[in-house]
Amino acid sequence: MTAISESTALAVEGVTVSFDGSPAVNDVTLTVAAGEVLGILGPSGSGKSTLLRSIAGLESLDAGRVSWHGEDITGVPVHKRGFALMFQDGQLFPHRTVAQNIAYPLRIARTPSEGRVAELLGLVGLAGFGTRRVTELSGGEQQRVALARSLAAEPRLLLLDEPLSALDRELRERLAGDLRRILDETGTTAIFVTHDQDEAFAVSDRVAVMVDGVLRQTGTPAEVWRTPASAEIARFLGYTTVLDGDAARVVRPLARGPVALRPAAVVVTGGGRGVSTDGSREIPTDGAPVAATVVRSTPAVEGSRVRLLVRGIGEVDGIASAQHPVTAGESVTVRFDDAGIAELP
Ligand code: ADP
Ligand code: MG
Repeated sequence: MTAISESTALAVEGVTVSFDGSPAVNDVTLTVAAGEVLGILGPSGSGKSTLLRSIAGLESLDAGRVSWHGEDITGVPVHKRGFALMFQDGQLFPHRTVAQNIAYPLRIARTPSEGRVAELLGLVGLAGFGTRRVTELSGGEQQRVALARSLAAEPRLLLLDEPLSALDRELRERLAGDLRRILDETGTTAIFVTHDQDEAFAVSDRVAVMVDGVLRQTGTPAEVWRTPASAEIARFLGYTTVLDGDAARVVRPLARGPVALRPAAVVVTGGGRGVSTDGSREIPTDGAPVAATVVRSTPAVEGSRVRLLVRGIGEVDGIASAQHPVTAGESVTVRFDDAGIAELP
């Protein structure tokens, strides 16, 4: 956890929020530096929204404090914090135009809005949309309008609560990239809450993993990805198998602790009906091949998702490429791909 320093904009210290006596947010401490985007990543019900609402001033805290550049703002009401919140459903005003929605916070702040609205529309890729009714927009366009509205009053801190979750995957990926660019271009300090690891990693400078109301691990996306702090975090990040002892050392001969595997780490390379282009049986070339039996095979977009009984390890999830169609009961060989393997403490 980053210590509070001169570059710290937001500091949350020991914050606890309970509902009916049970803590939804439990002794959370975090900092966000000026201009930084912190991702809060956790499963549904882990307390992410409650934490965000606490920072916004919408929850009363059982314990702890929130400060901004060293000034205690725990008792400061929501509208005096200078923060903006954006939700999964942008909560636009349906009877107003795009421009009127974006101008709303400027009106509240009695700031002239004309040039600013056009500038914000350009920023979110909706130049020329100002006179459209928001009900005529696609879900992705509505979220762009909501983002523009959130940025209109130049909030000191932007709090984003699963802003992309209601959109379909392809759009979500594109908007995640756009969101990152927009936050960079505007130098916005932000907290981005999501249950989607890809999104968290695409948007955030640092990621904090939250489980059961507790922040379990904080680091750069690469750090969290490569070295999950526990088997529980590894599972949440898409590592479906955790091996220990001798089984772990089949995968990583020098491993000193448990080893976590993503399905993509276990690749069928030989056997089955796999043939190379010259018609001969394909022989694995990289990594030591290990014998396995296919337990089941499920077609996926690229090749198949397979369940394998691997010698010396037991059952694990793996993948087979389209060049290696396999069916249950077949004997195959597999190799392990380092990119999908993490050693746990
Ligand atoms: P997340 O955003 O990670 O899905 P939430 O912060 O919404 O999680 O919820 C965390 C826990 O707190 C859940 O068990 C939820 O049911 C509970 N909770 C959230 N808000 C309230 C509330 N206003 N009253 C009672 N329980 C709540
Ligand atoms: Mg939530």
